[in-house]
Amino acid sequence: MTISMTTYLLARRLRDNLGQNTQTMFLSCYPQAVDYTRPHLSTIMANCSVDGCSSKVVGRGLCDTHYRRFMRHGTTAAPKRAPPGAGYIFRGYRIHEINGIRKFDHVRNAETALGRELPPAAIVHHVNENKLDNANTNLVICPDQAYHKLLHIRTDALNACGNANWRRCKYCKQYDDPVNLLLWKNGRRVPHAAHAACSKQASTSFRHGAKKRRSESTGALL
Ligand SMILES: [Zn+2]
Ligand SMILES: [Zn+2]
Ligand SMILES: [Zn+2]
Repeated sequence: MTISMTTYLLARRLRDNLGQNTQTMFLSCYPQAVDYTRPHLSTIMANCSVDGCSSKVVGRGLCDTHYRRFMRHGTTAAPKRAPPGAGYIFRGYRIHEINGIRKFDHVRNAETALGRELPPAAIVHHVNENKLDNANTNLVICPDQAYHKLLHIRTDALNACGNANWRRCKYCKQYDDPVNLLLWKNGRRVPHAAHAACSKQASTSFRHGAKKRRSESTGALL
């Protein structure tokens, strides 16, 4: 059933004059009537402010899609998509799924070069430290994590002081020839390194700190 414009306008006027109750009265008199006094959402919602988008605004003058995109990426432009077959990136490393087997590209390349699967402890290192550069010349297969860590330490030393054999003092952070340093393993696979003087100073200040902490907790004077 459709209602005439006159009935509708009358109902509007009644509602405006008498308050919201008339609306209920009107609807109870004409149960089949559409609630014309309540504007349809589409008439009160503006269109999205993005060019070429006619969806309704949900916030900040943007539609749902563009609002979410803006909140997530800071721009309403469509996100760049990798071409099909480019795989995807996980923790900085590219992964491809081939024949249902999902594998890091660097691992797959290393295994192809090796001619068999990598041993369980093996780690593939990127020489230029670019995780996405999976060229064979950029990959080194390390037998285990200790060897891999050593490669990183030597690379860092080479970049910092020009000598891959030098080690960094853990206290003053300066690189020095290992003959000037104390090296101790302490259960680690890659040893700590520190100048004797730096180490002594550190333990002295630690003991002073401990004494201070003790006196503070007991309230005793130093
Ligand atoms: Zn939009
Ligand atoms: Zn590495
Ligand atoms: Zn030092």
